[in-house]
Amino acid sequence: MSENPDVRRLADWDGESLRALAAEHDTPLYVMDLDRVRENCERLKSAFPDEEVRYAVKAHTGRAVLETVREAGLAAECASAGEVMRAFDAGYEGHEVQYTAVNPPAVDLDYVVDAWEEHPDLTITVGAADTVDRLRERGFDGRLCVRVNPGVGAGHHEKVQTGANAKFGVPYDRVPDLLAEAREDFDVVGIHAHAGSGISGDDLENHRELVRRMGELARDVGELEFVDVGGGFGVPYHEDEPPLDLEAVADATREAIGDIDATLAVEPGRYVVADAGVLLTRVNTVKPADDTTVVGIDAGMTTLLRPAMYGSYHALANLSAAEADGADGADGADDDRVAIPVTVTGPICESSDVLCEDRPLPRPARGDLFAIGNAGAYGYEMASTYNSRPRPAEVALESGDSRLVRRREQLCELTELEDHV
Ligand SMILES: *Cc1c(COP(=O)(O)O)cnc(C)c1O
Repeated sequence: MSENPDVRRLADWDGESLRALAAEHDTPLYVMDLDRVRENCERLKSAFPDEEVRYAVKAHTGRAVLETVREAGLAAECASAGEVMRAFDAGYEGHEVQYTAVNPPAVDLDYVVDAWEEHPDLTITVGAADTVDRLRERGFDGRLCVRVNPGVGAGHHEKVQTGANAKFGVPYDRVPDLLAEAREDFDVVGIHAHAGSGISGDDLENHRELVRRMGELARDVGELEFVDVGGGFGVPYHEDEPPLDLEAVADATREAIGDIDATLAVEPGRYVVADAGVLLTRVNTVKPADDTTVVGIDAGMTTLLRPAMYGSYHALANLSAAEADGADGADGADDDRVAIPVTVTGPICESSDVLCEDRPLPRPARGDLFAIGNAGAYGYEMASTYNSRPRPAEVALESGDSRLVRRREQLCELTELEDHV
């Protein structure tokens, strides 16, 4: 294995350390390996050496992660006032902070314009002419970037765009006029587009087309500091899925943008943190049913929402079965406890609170410790207190040490917002 592998699989985690962490901090518990976060940043920096890499912080906004990413040299792409606040809290400087305003509430614009007074080098990205007006009203005349809705391909027209697409960005054909107008009042520094989370090993075509259109637009409007082509770099959630060929994506991106007189910027979120995190959870209930065995764990859709919300696949290992068997890694390989198809559910009163169905796993027992892979991106970040379930704790690993970076929410904290009115 190379020093900085393209992917870290669930089986690559050290089962014994994870068992020790669960024993010390209880479950459900998020574990973030900051060394792996750093490795992911380093691979990005080396694939995009002359480009600017911005971390889309919404994938994981924890302070320890943000500090690690900042030290590794990535800028910060923020989607709300709260994320801007967190970026500054983690030591980011104005010139490294980009705030992308998506249908921004007034309080967000107020906050960011205030922050700009103190950090005049921050950049605000707008996705509507309306937002430009609201910034003007607030006296903002700083660094402005326009988010472009690039459509889905050549010949595409704004009138046939789907509603979901139209939410984001200024329609491609209207960007030159808006930019020209904005240049009168603002320091227009860039154009930006983000297609979604779609870049995978065998589907580079959409990305290439988006980048090509952005290059064309950049040549059309002239005088820009950067062209930001978004994030969406995929990670392999399935054990047998190959990792993204980052160098190939970088080459395709540079080729598609063509000759531009501006810095190319990318803003990966998931890629930076996904495989740096696992979620540890214990089995509460084992219930044989007619067609499957239902295994109830103490982490549910309020802990890790992705399976319920997107139907996402996450690798799962039974660390207790692996221990009983003396298996080394966290792959749950076992001879005594033969694999049976199990349906893993959380403790939430919702039928969508299911992690996986009919997954072959070593026969589980009450109290078994499970590890859920690729939980570092959009994991804790999407946790909620639905069903009045306190949010989990989080531990960070760094240079062989571990430390609690987010304590477990307590039951008594659930009523706090009501207690103080
Ligand atoms: C969410 C988001 C990203 C990151 O997406 P990933 O799929 O996590 O890489 C980048 N840019 C913007 C504007 C986003 O909203």
